[in-house]
Amino acid sequence: MLPAISSQKPDELTGWLAQSGEPAYRADQILRWVHKGSISGWSQMRNIPDSLKKKLSSHFSFSSVKLVHKQGGIDTTIKFLWKLSDGQYVESVLIPASPSLYGETSDRHTLCISTQVGCAYGCKFCASGLEGFKRNLNPGEVIDQVLGVEALFKKRISSDRRLITNLVIMGMGEPLANYDNLLDALNVLNSNWSANIGARKITISTSGLVPQIIKLSDQPKQYRLAISLHGATDEVRNKIMPINRKYSLSKLSDAVEIYQSRKNGSITLEYILIEGINDGIDQVPHLAILSERLRAKVNIIPYNSVEGLGYKRPSITIQERFVRALIDKGVRATLRREKGHDIDAACGQLRLKAEKKLDSGEN
Ligand code: SF4
Repeated sequence: MLPAISSQKPDELTGWLAQSGEPAYRADQILRWVHKGSISGWSQMRNIPDSLKKKLSSHFSFSSVKLVHKQGGIDTTIKFLWKLSDGQYVESVLIPASPSLYGETSDRHTLCISTQVGCAYGCKFCASGLEGFKRNLNPGEVIDQVLGVEALFKKRISSDRRLITNLVIMGMGEPLANYDNLLDALNVLNSNWSANIGARKITISTSGLVPQIIKLSDQPKQYRLAISLHGATDEVRNKIMPINRKYSLSKLSDAVEIYQSRKNGSITLEYILIEGINDGIDQVPHLAILSERLRAKVNIIPYNSVEGLGYKRPSITIQERFVRALIDKGVRATLRREKGHDIDAACGQLRLKAEKKLDSGEN
């Protein structure tokens, strides 16, 4: 597998150019094409000589992700299924702030990206973990999800305006279990020579990896932190999230408090509401206490059912009762209503379908 050109930093590329007998100024030209050009191949680098393009293509892959399926638009979100060079699949989801990508009422577009193929953490309601963990994505595979989507919508990008303004790291995989590759990729995407996405516009979501949350609080960038909570007591969390047996709510809250005190950024608690599991009103006081302690807002996300799993979305009455009870306790709580965009729960389904098709010989 050749390294992706997108994961090369300016000094690394300059070093490679020197070794290849090429002038240093080419690094700036190449990086500009890769990160700001929204192009889809070496041949489109108009000011790069063919001899250098040939050298580049034998040392680097232009993109480490290949689009195999795009779905959505009607319900305001678009899902992308990418094939990696070893034949594995991952997903990304584009979420416009406006009613539709073509509706033009807001320029904000958030991309939710994956960090692993599969997931080892086995949350009971989640499609991503259904077939276990396959491998970590390398930095290029994380970066190329962003550049790949921007290349698809290149008409909406100009030199001073990019399509993707916000990133959420909530796709397939536990991001903090791939800590080094993720941070490497985010530091590139945050750079002004790349996508220039502000650290405060990048939200890293974790199911609760305590040591990595503390490690994240030690690095210099102000990334936002979201916790996939999905239960406000150990009893409920233990039932659906095996990670809680290792890092209980008390240990998790201590770590998030450290993050909060060092980064002074707002924390989000993500809470997928699942019928009969965590939608009882008895969870509300515990959630309110946690939210107050961590100065966190709470996102309530009605569950999106996953084929092969028996969990269900609660009725609208139950959803509204839960959120109302939280608000009555002074919690900043929102109910997310978008269809097809229950990222934590639904992510991974496209990939499973693609793998089943391949197993059955369809294409
Ligand atoms: S919810 Fe997140 S951590 Fe849990 S299995 Fe799914 S991808 Fe992994």
